[in-house]
Amino acid sequence: MQKIFVIGAGTMGRGIAQVASQAKYLVYISDINIDVVKKSLDMVKSGLDRQVEKGKMTKEEVQDIMDRIKPVEGMEKVNEADFIIEAALEDVALKQKIFKELDEKSNPQAILATNTTSCSITEIASATRTPERVVGMHFFNPPILMKLVEIMPGILTADETVDKTKDLALKMGKDPVVTKKEGPAGVTSRILAGLLNEAVWVLHEGIATVDAIDKAVVMGCNHRMGPFALIDLIGVDIHLAKTQMLYNKTGDDRYRPCYLLEQMVQAGLLGKKAGRGFYDYSKDPAEPVDFFKK
Ligand code: NAD
Repeated sequence: MQKIFVIGAGTMGRGIAQVASQAKYLVYISDINIDVVKKSLDMVKSGLDRQVEKGKMTKEEVQDIMDRIKPVEGMEKVNEADFIIEAALEDVALKQKIFKELDEKSNPQAILATNTTSCSITEIASATRTPERVVGMHFFNPPILMKLVEIMPGILTADETVDKTKDLALKMGKDPVVTKKEGPAGVTSRILAGLLNEAVWVLHEGIATVDAIDKAVVMGCNHRMGPFALIDLIGVDIHLAKTQMLYNKTGDDRYRPCYLLEQMVQAGLLGKKAGRGFYDYSKDPAEPVDFFKK
């Protein structure tokens, strides 16, 4: 396995591309157009340049990593890839459209992985004629730092696909967990969604402020990050889609998304990527937003 194709150059896609390049794979990356990809790769380069400033990397190493990541338009070069990782928006119809095209244009031996947080692997795979090569490969944010990769088979995924995906994760320096079967969302996402959703309800009920809840969870539960800082990092829209899906599939009130999340998405308060979510990132350090101020 030598060439990896990443679809979607957002928060996760560009991180996965960097991880793959650092593991010496040749990486193609595409998005809705080439300008989006180039802007995204500028962000990868800035992050790597900061490592040079800190003395953790040399300029040559940065150049080497960047040289192996090739921006492409659409599905150009996809037929050359051994492994394809989709990290486009969390929308099952969009993912099915992408996988249908991949089914037609990719090398039939290539593995088709999705980084989805909460879409069904089986549902995405149903858009292809080869569901046995479709698998969930869920990286965590930011992919460059987080060691865990959750690998989840759909109902028709071949064991060989799972094995090859695990092998790739290991070669990327990750520490994978393979689920025995598909559930609604992965192990971590499902457990975390309940916790994060509860935090939003506590805020919505006016029990405590954003920063007080974050502080309580960090100090009291020994978490590295509070729930609101984490939702902002994940993306408020992505968190909402996940809890909504879990609520629809399980009917369990633990996952009933708080109305505040819908309002935030409607208002464009999508978290860190939008500059504002539960915190205002235009301030340094970021300030918690008081949603209930008169
Ligand atoms: P993002 O919004 O940062 O990036 C998504 C990218 O997909 C955007 O650049 C967008 O232009 C692109 N895109 C949209 N339509 C496309 C198309 N037709 N073809 C190619 N690209 C297209 O989102 P993200 O946070 O990177 O999430 C991507 C995926 O990774 C989602 O499925 C999400 O659930 C999953 N995920 C996210 C996180 C997280 O913490 N953000 C963690 C794990 C998994």
